[in-house]
This record gives sequence, structure tokens and C-alpha cells, in this order.
Amino acid sequence: LERPIVFGNWKMNGLREDGLALARAVATAPGKGTLGIFPPATILREVILAVEGSNVIVGAQNAHSEDFGAFTGSISAPMIKDVGGTAVLLGHSECRHGLGEADADVWGKAEASARADLLTVICIGETDDERTAGRRDAVLRRQIDGSMPRGSDVSKLVVAYEPVWAIGTGKTPSESDIVSAHAFVRERLDAIFGRESRIPILYGGSVKAENAAAILALEGVDGVLVGGASLDAESFVRIFQAGQ
Ligand code: 13P
Repeated sequence: LERPIVFGNWKMNGLREDGLALARAVATAPGKGTLGIFPPATILREVILAVEGSNVIVGAQNAHSEDFGAFTGSISAPMIKDVGGTAVLLGHSECRHGLGEADADVWGKAEASARADLLTVICIGETDDERTAGRRDAVLRRQIDGSMPRGSDVSKLVVAYEPVWAIGTGKTPSESDIVSAHAFVRERLDAIFGRESRIPILYGGSVKAENAAAILALEGVDGVLVGGASLDAESFVRIFQAGQ
């Protein structure tokens, strides 16, 4: 994937009218790099049609580990692929901490995503308590080791480092903390997938138009995963342009 990689996670936002307008604006954003959006499943198909002809990646925000079955409320990787989706976010903190997803659950979902040949974005990150206890790297290691299947096609993997305490709070780690976290993640990915794997590592958590240039310029940051600011077309496009 061409850097910078700028992905927007819309979370539980986006009715048809606003969502499609936002998608169209993203599709016409000028610049080099890779843009991706992750709308709610209800409008996934329409967003895919709205950006048709552009290079914008469109994906879902979660997927089940099974392909089909009695799993009320879930969607599966083959369903995402069936409507033209090419990516999926897995292990977001709001799923790990809000829905009780464990590392092993994310692993199973990542295997399902790989079976459907989707680009799999594995989200990891420590909580505030874990950070203050000096356990950041231990948590990142546990999440990487426990939720990223060995033998995966590395060209279809992306890692998003999102400190839980930085999500939606307006707080971001210091630049040196982002650099050191990314370096730690890189070391672990090298150990598991090989030095040539070059799996992109995105930073996420309170990325805005104002701080994007500084974050995207940091050593080891291949892109960003944006929540709130991805809902505003102008902000999201400015973030992409900050990486040019
Ligand atoms: P915010 O950009 O709103 O902090 O959210 C980050 C995030 O969770 C993206 O997945």
C-alpha cells in the first residue's frame, strides 16, 4: 500500500445522505497515498457504489470468525466481500473492551478475513491503567502474538496502534511515545512475519487536521486511523494532505 495510509473509521455514524456525500468527497480527494473508509454495514454497499472508479478502499468495522450460521447480529467476511468490500477492521478497542472480544476471537476473525482475501486491519493498544503501570509493550506484544495468525499473507495485513486512552479524548501520546510504540510493534512483527514483511503500522487516537502532519512525519508511522475527524470531509481530506 502506498504511504501515507489514511483510514477513516466512521464507527456507529452515517445515515445514507450524509454518508454518501462524505464518501463522494473522499473519493475526489487529490493526493498520493492510500485512502480507506469504514462505514457502518447498513450503507456499505451504497458507499462502495458511491466511490466506484476511485482508489478508495471501503471496508467493514468488524466480521465474525465463521462464514455463515446462527450468529444473530453479526456479519461475515464473505458477506463483506460479496457486496464489494475489500477490507475489515478487527480488534478495535471498542470491540475488545466494549464487546469483550479476546485476542483469540480477533485471531479467528483474522483467519476468516484472510479466507475471504480481505485487507485485515488489526487494532491494538494499551489502556490508561496499563500505560501508567508501565505495561504498554507487554500488552502490545500479547495482542500481536494473540490476534495475528501466523502464516498470514503479509501483503493483506495492516496494524493500527490505537492507545485506548487516546481514542476520542483529544489526548495523544508524546511524539517519542508514538515512535517507541511503533518501533516495538515493528520489532514484534519482524520477529513473527520476517523483516521483509513491512506490514504497515498506523497510529490512531485523536488524529485531527491540526496534528496530522506532525504524526504522519514520525519515524515508523505509515499512516493514521481516524475516528471522529473522518466524519468531516474537509478534516479528513486535510489529514490526507498533511501526509503529502
Ligand atoms: P478518534 O479519532 O475519534 O480518537 O478515534 C480513533 C479510533 O478509534 C479510530 O479507529
